[in-house]
Parts: sequence; C-alpha cells; structure tokens
Amino acid sequence: MSKAENMEIRAEAAAALREGGLRPTRTRCLILALLRQGSDHPTAAQITSRLNATGEHVHLPTVYQCLDRMVQAGLLSSFVDGDGLIHFDVNPRPHHHLRCMHCGVIVDALITAAGAGLLEALSRTASKLEPTQSWAITNAKVELQGLCPSCRPRNHTGAEGDGRANQTSD
Ligand SMILES: [Zn+2]
Ligand SMILES: [Zn+2]
Repeated sequence: MSKAENMEIRAEAAAALREGGLRPTRTRCLILALLRQGSDHPTAAQITSRLNATGEHVHLPTVYQCLDRMVQAGLLSSFVDGDGLIHFDVNPRPHHHLRCMHCGVIVDALITAAGAGLLEALSRTASKLEPTQSWAITNAKVELQGLCPSCRPRNHTGAEGDGRANQTSD
C-alpha cells in the first residue's frame, strides 16, 4: 500500500467518524483505517499489535475505548466468539460469517439473493414448528465453518501441494 493510498484511507476514515458524530482522533482514524483495509474480524489486542507493528504507538486501553465508542456510534459491530474474546467488525449491518476451524480467521460470507431466500424459508419453518410455541424471528445470523484458502489441503485445489498440507479431518 502506497503512502498516498494510506493517506486517502485515513481521510475516508476521518470523514466516516465525523459522519458518525465522533471526533476523528488519531487512534480512532488509525483503527478504522486498519479495519477497512482488512477483511478479518480482529480483537482489540490484535488491532493494537498490528498498529504497533506499523510503527504507530497505541495502547490497548485506548484502543478498547475507541472501539467501544465506534460500536456505540454504529460505525462498527462487535461479537463474542467461541474463544470468549470480543471481535470487531467493520460492517455494522446484519450479515453472515465464514470461520476457519484451523486458523480461526473470520470473514464476511457473501450470501446471494437465493441464499437469503433459503434463510428466510428456514426462519419461517423454525418459527412454526409448534403453533403454540411459534417465534417471531427478527434476525438470522449464520456462521459457516470450514477451512480457509490458506488452511485448506492443497490437493483440494487440484494442484499438487508441497507435501506439508494441513490435514485437519479430525
Ligand atoms: Zn485458516
Ligand atoms: Zn463480519
């Protein structure tokens, strides 16, 4: 990423913060720019170490505070994963996730209109299993689990791997 691109992403992050009613402080801009450049859903500790690795000096408590304010302002969403840690998501709208069972990476699942229709049908069925016990479904959140492209055994791509492909069939 060039310096100019970096500046542009930071300027966009600052604009988004102002739009969300937040003062674009240095740390808030750095965090939002970092999240917008990636596709995963890091924890506050991961965000802190990634920023520090790029030469920016930020502290975990400040990062936590900034993330919290951005979630409250509706710029980010957050969720507790199976690891018990809070993960932050640059996408504040309801959406679905893909999670790698080997390295733990979580990315947004791109669900087509057909998939969304299936989900809706599933919600309708689930809500009506027992007429007297029917639920009013307000939200559906799907997590699809598997192996990401980096962890997937190489032979699944059709190409021969280096013989060290991860076998995680257990
Ligand atoms: Zn993986
Ligand atoms: Zn997400």
